[in-house]
Amino acid sequence: MLNIKDKVVLITGASSGIGEAAARFLAAKGAKVVLGARRTENLKSIAGEIQAAGGEVRFTSLDVTQKEQLESFIQFSQSQFGRVDVLVSNAGLMPLSLIEQLKVEEWDRMIDVNLKGVLYGIAAALPIFQAQNSGHFVNITSIADRWVGPTATIYCATKHAVRVISEGLRQEVGSNIRVTVIAPGATESELLNTISDPEIKKAAIEQFRIDLLPTEAIARAIAYAVEQPADVDVNEIVVRPSAQK
Ligand code: NDP
Repeated sequence: MLNIKDKVVLITGASSGIGEAAARFLAAKGAKVVLGARRTENLKSIAGEIQAAGGEVRFTSLDVTQKEQLESFIQFSQSQFGRVDVLVSNAGLMPLSLIEQLKVEEWDRMIDVNLKGVLYGIAAALPIFQAQNSGHFVNITSIADRWVGPTATIYCATKHAVRVISEGLRQEVGSNIRVTVIAPGATESELLNTISDPEIKKAAIEQFRIDLLPTEAIARAIAYAVEQPADVDVNEIVVRPSAQK
């Protein structure tokens, strides 16, 4: 039996883009969604709209670079809904630059959010999943998790790492805990705003002057993995715009 209704789904980085779309889509399918991000004013209005449409939703401030905040995020979900079924680790940024520009602070931020943020989520949720004897990690990587190119090296490195960690986690945890990697191609969102170099940002906008994926395409991929029966573990979904090489 396909199941998504009443699952408690936590989403990091739910204040815009893919995370926001996943929140709306999963809530519309009957999941109880718990939203986390730093821009709580965005979360408030997204949650208000989900609720107005009949969805069950909670939100809380979350900075995934702070280990304790991920622990609180999980505890918040438990206090509101009594359990955690799915953790969608989606928060991320992509400040592209050439390595020789030595934007070391941006490297640190990508490692802190894109990589350590996912690890902290695993650390916070795994004991709960083990105690429940069920749970599902959904990690949003990128087609950059299997590719590398100029200006994207550190971003790709963080995404490669998350893909590797996801596969290792899958092998180590019991069969009642599922692990999914969703690897989007170019998708409409605010992600390019994280590029600080104006020339590189311009080039990225040019490069993505194609029909981008709507964020709901990635939300549908997440829902597909989540709604499978417990004995079906969807490990990887790669979704590109048809026009992307
Ligand atoms: P957006 O910029 O629209 O969304 C990024 C989200 O991450 C925001 O909600 C932001 O919330 C959150 N975030 C950033 N830093 C933190 C933090 N420290 N703590 C908590 N949340 C944080 O971009 P996308 O929707 O595109 O990005 C979502 C994911 O999809 C990322 O992991 C990205 O790498 C991946 N992806 C995107 C692609 C694309 O083309 N758009 C392609 C492939 C992968 P806030 O600022 O409120 O904290």
